[in-house]
Amino acid sequence: MSESIDELIENAAESLARAEYAIALTGAGISTESGIADFRGPSGVWTKNPKAEQDAYKTYPRLLEDPKGWWEEMLAQPVSGRESLEKAAANSGHYALAELERIGVLKWTLTQNIDALHEKAGSKNLLEYHGTISKLRCMACNARYPRDGFDFEKMLADDRLPPLCSECQGVLKSDVVYFGEPIPSDIAYQSDEVARKCDVMLICGTSAVVYPFANLPRIAGQGARGRTRAATVIEVNAEPTPLTEEHVSDYLIQGKTGEILPAIAEAVRAKLDA
Ligand code: NAD
Repeated sequence: MSESIDELIENAAESLARAEYAIALTGAGISTESGIADFRGPSGVWTKNPKAEQDAYKTYPRLLEDPKGWWEEMLAQPVSGRESLEKAAANSGHYALAELERIGVLKWTLTQNIDALHEKAGSKNLLEYHGTISKLRCMACNARYPRDGFDFEKMLADDRLPPLCSECQGVLKSDVVYFGEPIPSDIAYQSDEVARKCDVMLICGTSAVVYPFANLPRIAGQGARGRTRAATVIEVNAEPTPLTEEHVSDYLIQGKTGEILPAIAEAVRAKLDA
């Protein structure tokens, strides 16, 4: 007989309360309740408009070909997707993960999201695997800069694009990782390290089909080299994913992250207080 949602939430809370090194992985699904569409859910941007997926692959080659022209084209766009993301607010799912970190249960949150909502919710130990809209990154040395430290209107008027790194004079781009662009080496390395080290991995709102991020549950779930046993891998998602179907995850708690994650956090707190 399969377990009820309440029993699965209780199991997850038990594993997290006992964990020595728990980490969370998140994807676009955790932000749909903040009004940001995901890509591959039933109302996803690409589910509704497959051509948008093909267009997304043109951005990075265009940047490599002509950084100055790329910046001018980006700044000429009437209302960018970035501006609507900047207005979004964190939801109860983001706050629940920040709370689990605050009480010492979660050691790291690794997100594919670029929307900066984990940061807004208060998560501190955050690895933004696909970058963030709130920063620029040097293409040569990976140095990051807050985006709001640049006056792009003035740089455009003074013909000073592209922006350059003050450390090494490399070209700056958005920190967001574009399709076809390698994951920044510092983030890739650290994410791999914590996935190898974790004993519990809580995966929230991802279809787990974008690589190399989708490898991280496989590293944890199958037991990396030098480990005595695999981590407990728990999914919270609206629908089953390849991780569910291939039994990489131990179980799926099927539902909304905005409802299930606060329930897990509350159950963990109750166990730690008992
Ligand atoms: P995805 O769109 O491929 O999958 C999202 C998954 O979350 C789906 O399985 C969907 O059913 C599920 N889901 C949707 N709403 C949910 C909810 N409220 N509760 C629980 N589950 C829910 O997303 P992905 O796996 O993150 O891959 C998409 C890629 O696109 C990532 O690389 C990410 O960087 C990027 N992206 C980011 C954002 C963002 O920053 N918010 C938004 C769209 C896409």
